[in-house]
Parts: sequence; structure tokens; C-alpha cells
Amino acid sequence: MRPISYSRAGAVADAVAAVAADPTSDFLAGGTTEVDLLRQNVLLPRRLVDINDLPLAQIEDRPDGGLYIGALARMSEVAQAPSVRERFPMVAEALELGASAQLRHMASMGGNMMQRVRCGYFRDAASPCNKRDPGSGCAALDGFNRGHAVLGVSEHCIATHPSDVAVPLMALDARIHTEGPHGRRVYAIDDFFLLPGATPHLEHPLEHGELVVGIEVPGTPTARTSRYLKVRDRESYEFALASVAAAVTLHNGVLADVRLALGGVATKPWRARHAEDVLRGAPAGTETFRQAARAELAAARTRPLNAFKTELAQRTMVRILETLTGTGTDAAPGTDPAPGREGRP
Ligand code: SF4
Repeated sequence: MRPISYSRAGAVADAVAAVAADPTSDFLAGGTTEVDLLRQNVLLPRRLVDINDLPLAQIEDRPDGGLYIGALARMSEVAQAPSVRERFPMVAEALELGASAQLRHMASMGGNMMQRVRCGYFRDAASPCNKRDPGSGCAALDGFNRGHAVLGVSEHCIATHPSDVAVPLMALDARIHTEGPHGRRVYAIDDFFLLPGATPHLEHPLEHGELVVGIEVPGTPTARTSRYLKVRDRESYEFALASVAAAVTLHNGVLADVRLALGGVATKPWRARHAEDVLRGAPAGTETFRQAARAELAAARTRPLNAFKTELAQRTMVRILETLTGTGTDAAPGTDPAPGREGRP
């Protein structure tokens, strides 16, 4: 039995001060990650500061056509918001394809940005894991790594980033707002998620006591023509093997604007900039899409069990681009069982 003290904060400044003052403390929002990790002895806080009373649940329109989503807005609320469904459909789709209905009702948007990886070795306190115990090694490198990442990996960690909604937010150049011991900060989303490199235990640039308070989504007309496609082993409550958030603007058959990001294949939500460079200004069509997908996955570094993700990610990219542009008929990704699932229900 480990005693944990619990308090509820009534103001952002109080919450920040309480956690900043105690290195053994954590924020508690929906609890859908934190409580799991407490039970598994992966996180060992001695104090939890409940932030659910803070006024951070807004979903506000911005003058530029964008949104400001409070960190305590629940995934299900954001998915149902008319402004999100109309102007950012890939965000609504990614939310609805994440977790289960019960979890979406509880999980907060800020917590989603801060969720920890689903690597089984990270959650098994007996296994070596550089993310949980820096310098101890990485059991996944030669272990069961079928679900692990092929992009953004290092010799120290290959864990896949688990979030769905962070993928379209990456494509949209969202900004993460925080309040911390040194005041308010705003991070470009690409800077908010760190690559593992030699320090996989550092997942964000935040200091202890720095709280995510909101997510700003800039307005962009391209986002109205957007989709999120998620390929997984089963149709409910499962993490992505590969996913793609895509938004396009077509002018006379030419891709005038395109935004692409990948999930399920990288150690952070992955902006597919190489693919965007191939696509922007090019005629829409399956060959162009395949070329773009190959360009993005050229840097993939695979292990024997997850090598299939390179092809799967490319097919997923091609399929979503064909769907959005009304072109081509590429084979549906996931039509064949992914390796390791043959014969399983
Ligand atoms: Fe830990 Fe990362 Fe290796 Fe998983 S992949 S065991 S999280 S270091």
C-alpha cells in the first residue's frame, strides 16, 4: 500500500503552485492514463492535484476561423461540437475512433496530449525500459514489437505515440498553451512532442508543474475537406497500426494545398512533410500519391515484426488521398490480415 494525498484545485495558479512545489506530485484530470499507471506501479506520485474544477472546458471559435479547445474539454464533447465537425472533420473522426465511448466521456483533451505510450514493456515494471527507468535498456528492440514505431525511432526507444487526435492536430499546426511556474507558454505542436533520441524519458519540453490549459487550432479552409483513416486489428477500442489525417484543396485537378500527418507508425504524431512536398502543386492521382507515400516512408527503420507497417502506412496514405480527391481505386489497407493476426478473430 502506497499512501497518496489528494486535493482539488480551484484555480489554475493554485494547481500549478501545488504541483510545482512537490516533485512527487502530479495533476489529475480524467484519470484514464494516470490511474492505469498508478495501478501498474509505473507512476509513483505521492500527491495528486485534481484539476477537474478548473474553468478549462471551453470550445471557442476564433476570429481566424480556428478554435480554442480548453484542456478539460472531454474527447466526446469536442467530437460532437458543430464547429469541429463542420470545419475540422478529421479532428472529429480521430476523436470518435479513439478509445471507447466510456473513455471518451472521461478523457480530457489536455490529458490526451500528455498520455503515455502503450508499449507493454513500459507498463511492466519488471522489464528494462529506458523511458520508465533511464539507462536500463529497451526490451522492445528484440522483443514483441509488432505495434512499435518505424519513424522517429532511436536505439533507445521505439515506442509508438498512441494518440489519434494529436495526428490531425499535427497536420493543422495546432499550438499547445500551458501555464507553469514561469507563466504562460505556447508551443508549436511539433515542438511539444519530443523524439526519443537518447532521452526517451523526456516526452515533452514541460517543466514540473507546467499544466496544459488549452489547444489552439488555427483556421484553414483546407481543413473542411479532411478525413482521418485508422487501420487497426479490430474495429473498436484498439490503437492504430497505421493512421493518416489528410486535408486537401483541389484546383482543376491539382493539389493546391495539402496537409498530412501519420499515427501508429512513429514515436510522435508525425507530420508527413516529405509527402506534402511531393503532393503540393502536383496533379491528383494514384501514382502521385504512391510517390508521396514512398518519399515519406523512405526513412523507416523497421524490426522484423513491424516491417509490415511501412507498406501499410503507404497504402493508408494512398487510400485516404484517393478518397478525398475522388481518384483511383487502390487496394484497401488492412484488407489482408496484418502479420501476426492471421487466423485471429
Ligand atoms: Fe521502454 Fe520505449 Fe523500449 Fe518500450 S520501446 S521498452 S517504452 S524504451
